[in-house]
Amino acid sequence: MHMAEEDYLSLLERAKDKLPEKIEKHERFTVPEPDIFMEGKTTVIRNFGDIVDTLRRDEEHLVQYLLRELGTPGHVEGRRLILKAKLNPQQIADRIMSYTETFVLCSECGRPDTRINKEGRILILECEACGAHRPVNVRKTAVKKEELDAVVEGQIYEVMIEDVGKKGDGVARRGNVIIYVPGAGKGSRVHVKITKRSGNVSFATVTQEPATAR
Ligand SMILES: [Zn+2]
Repeated sequence: MHMAEEDYLSLLERAKDKLPEKIEKHERFTVPEPDIFMEGKTTVIRNFGDIVDTLRRDEEHLVQYLLRELGTPGHVEGRRLILKAKLNPQQIADRIMSYTETFVLCSECGRPDTRINKEGRILILECEACGAHRPVNVRKTAVKKEELDAVVEGQIYEVMIEDVGKKGDGVARRGNVIIYVPGAGKGSRVHVKITKRSGNVSFATVTQEPATAR
């Protein structure tokens, strides 16, 4: 090692010692990027345990939040979270980010050194770094209920055939719209393309194309 380089490193070490602990901590705070892979029809977050550890929140709380936001069932297996749907990795990263903003970061100083206290029925995020208190506002979900319930002509949705109609067509439902799918068997999960919608009734055909809408 060159002398100059050594000097530089020891200088850096000394400078680091002088940094107040909290600032140093703050600058180091990054939520691990979800390590995601698809396994058949499931999406696995391999480093879920690391994410929970970083956020220092109740694992079950984060799990329930993600399942609700992503609209899928799922469960924890060791350090991994298994989601029972094919999901876009970006979508998952966005939800983890919004959880962090809502339930972890102080809105005053931006630091993650917070804890959640219950005051009656209200959750209060209390910052250990700056002392700020704020109620936890659960944001509106990114995908609104109306959007989830929407049935639009030309769009492709993944639906569950819940029943069979009088004429033998498969029957699915999105919100209060009934979708008739000729040739689809009861209990099957299929991708359907909406060919016609009239009020609360719509018609669709089974397609191999991927869903264009949630
Ligand atoms: Zn703060």
